Amino acid sequence: MTAKEAIKFIEEKGAKLVDFRFSDFLGQWQHTTVPAHEITEDIFEDGLGFDGSSIRGWQAINNSDMIMLPDPATIKMDPYTEIPTAYMICNIFDPISKERYTKDPRNIAAKAIKYLQSTGIADTAFFGPEAEFFIFDNIQYDTTKNSSYYVVDTEEGNWNTGAEGHNLGYKIRPKEGYFPVPPLDSLFNLRNEMVMTMEEQGLYIENSHHEVASGGQCEIDMRFNDMISMADDLQTFKYIVKNTACKYGKSATFMPKPLFEDNGSGMHVHQSLWKDGQPLFAGEEYAGMSEMALYYIGGIIKHAHTIAAFTNPTTNSYKRLVPGFEAPVSLAYSSRNRSASLRIPMYSPSPKAKRVEVRFPDPMANPYLAFTVMMMAGLDGIQNKIDPGEPMDKNLYDLDPIELSSIPQMPSSLEQAINALEKDHDFLLKGDVFTEDVIASWVEWKRDEISGLNSRPHPYEFFMYYDN
Ligand code: GLU
Ligand code: MG
Ligand code: MG
Repeated sequence: MTAKEAIKFIEEKGAKLVDFRFSDFLGQWQHTTVPAHEITEDIFEDGLGFDGSSIRGWQAINNSDMIMLPDPATIKMDPYTEIPTAYMICNIFDPISKERYTKDPRNIAAKAIKYLQSTGIADTAFFGPEAEFFIFDNIQYDTTKNSSYYVVDTEEGNWNTGAEGHNLGYKIRPKEGYFPVPPLDSLFNLRNEMVMTMEEQGLYIENSHHEVASGGQCEIDMRFNDMISMADDLQTFKYIVKNTACKYGKSATFMPKPLFEDNGSGMHVHQSLWKDGQPLFAGEEYAGMSEMALYYIGGIIKHAHTIAAFTNPTTNSYKRLVPGFEAPVSLAYSSRNRSASLRIPMYSPSPKAKRVEVRFPDPMANPYLAFTVMMMAGLDGIQNKIDPGEPMDKNLYDLDPIELSSIPQMPSSLEQAINALEKDHDFLLKGDVFTEDVIASWVEWKRDEISGLNSRPHPYEFFMYYDN
């Protein structure tokens, strides 16, 4: 869609306002709104100014003026506003240099696709994320004293609390949420509304279901799309999940491990490279893969600790990556094995369906950055013919210590991942996709999160130590 067509869209839909949105560094949509009469062709050229120093991890106060320029191809009507409002996703520019901003995640993804094309290896990268999430009835945390006290109450998940007078019928037990019908699945109607809203917004939904965890864990799967469109779509997806939950007095969270001793939320990411309309990952090697797909896997395994700094970007992420909850710990690949970090799905014999499913990412990831780092690692694998080793078809949670010691493991903390990013990031700098300023800001921001958590008393410390 061009600027002219976007203006026509606004008129035809009767939009009174137009919302400008962009993803910040950490993957949260930010927005500002203008009346529809402000939308002329000029605004698509000149953009809208904003304060870049108030956006997490971006500009210094003395360099705060930035510009957002709407991408007319992304225009949609917001399904939640009371007054008809259209919205567009924006690219961020520096007003002085007129260059796209190095820390704009959408710019980083755009540079990655340009780089992919410049290598001649492929022209398109397809991504299909499966972002799991929890719906909670009520969550409270007391930030007034900077303490870490919190309460999570879930309609389905308070089986163990068994407070008197509560109805304990039709409650899903821990790890038994996959996937009985209602009334056990009390989120059926809510999920269906999310799915229909997503489809009205142009997302193509393939399937939705309750997930394994007891506390209202859900999954809605979208059909794959090219990298940038899919990252845009995932932002729309999260917006719809959260706002639909909110509409019914609930909240949705993409936090990877909200409940101890139950499954966490992953974001498996299916990916494949294509050239001239032909899939490049199908071939005669293991599980029907091409040699190129195996090298791509080799690159992901080699750089997994650096990748994790973006795909598993929170301190909470590493509470999910523990054995026994369908989340991977070992850096191995296999067909059909859900304990491996990389799976080659075998559902369809079609070469077009041949893809690698990376299972360690979680949905807190900024999709633009997460997709980019995985593709850059995979490309490094292809360029340097990195051997992924032998496939592992056995249950990797049950290995004896000797077997385990021969298989590389995921990092066990955000700190390990950030340390890896500091040491191993040359593969991200190729084609100027990532720049040193981006890596430095990411490291600084994440180190603050780590020390922020470490310096606060934790509820479990009260359990262990208070009475001693
Ligand atoms: N919830 C699991 C995870 O944390 C994934 C379950 C599945 O879809 O296989 O990755
Ligand atoms: Mg799942
Ligand atoms: Mg999956």
